[in-house]
Amino acid sequence: MQGFNKYYPPDYDPSHGSLNKYRGKHALGDRARKIDQGILITRFELPFNIWCGTCNNHIGMGVRYNAEKKKIGSYYSTPIFSFRCKCHLCDGWFEIQTDPKNTRYVVTSGARQKDEDWNPEENGGFAVHDTEGSAAPVDPLAALEKTTDAQNYLVNVQAPRLESLQSVSEHYNADPYALSSKVRKRFREVKKVEQQKQKADDQIRGRYGLPETFSLLEDDEAARQAAKEEWERGKQALALEESNKRRRLAVDIVSIPTSTITRAPRLHPKSSSNSKSLSTNPINSLRARILENTARQSNPFGQPRATLGNNHGLAFRK
Ligand SMILES: [Zn+2]
Repeated sequence: MQGFNKYYPPDYDPSHGSLNKYRGKHALGDRARKIDQGILITRFELPFNIWCGTCNNHIGMGVRYNAEKKKIGSYYSTPIFSFRCKCHLCDGWFEIQTDPKNTRYVVTSGARQKDEDWNPEENGGFAVHDTEGSAAPVDPLAALEKTTDAQNYLVNVQAPRLESLQSVSEHYNADPYALSSKVRKRFREVKKVEQQKQKADDQIRGRYGLPETFSLLEDDEAARQAAKEEWERGKQALALEESNKRRRLAVDIVSIPTSTITRAPRLHPKSSSNSKSLSTNPINSLRARILENTARQSNPFGQPRATLGNNHGLAFRK
């Protein structure tokens, strides 16, 4: 509160100057105790993390010191200040200077700065480079050479290319009517063929009740051949299945009489004479024998022959 102490002693005479001068004190008080060396004591806050060079302790950013501020030079008209601080963990001193050229602070002695500058390339960004160096050459001869090169390129390469493009364009646009009629004639022919195909497809769709959205294959030689092969294969498969079914049916018929022939007379007494006549019929007996043989050939482990023969014998006796 030194600056606010406005006590005027009784012997004070304004002709001697200000109160501070009268007392032999600086207006900034104790902070100006080294003002004769050009040093002012200021409060200085560390702008970055450092390691003290004397005790090797880490000192964090933001720690404040009563630093000796001193002007040590200038960058153009901007003064360069140095701040000399005494480490609070030891008695060592370190010095930090302003760097107006790069708008930053640098540690000049007594400590090491922790390098934590933002590096865009390290953090997935792009560094900003000085692009001023790649400006156009100021050499008039070089500039002249450049324009001459450009003119040569224009005359020797670009103009002929443009002319050839123009001639091609003129060739195609000379008789638009002929070109158009040629195109339309061809289009008409193609359209006729397409319509015929469409008609045939529609007929097929109508015949088999296929939906409109069902797309049919192009009717060419390969497709026809493939369809024929498929048809043959399907026919063979059908024939094979048919023969298998017939054989199975034969086995069934041979094995059925064991139950039907013995049971039928009891259920339907009236038909007993009928079944007897059926069994006695020589054609029927022959058929039964053939079927029996076929069954034995195709299924030798099925119904044994002896039982069959017995059953038939029973039917005969009844
Ligand atoms: Zn220290």
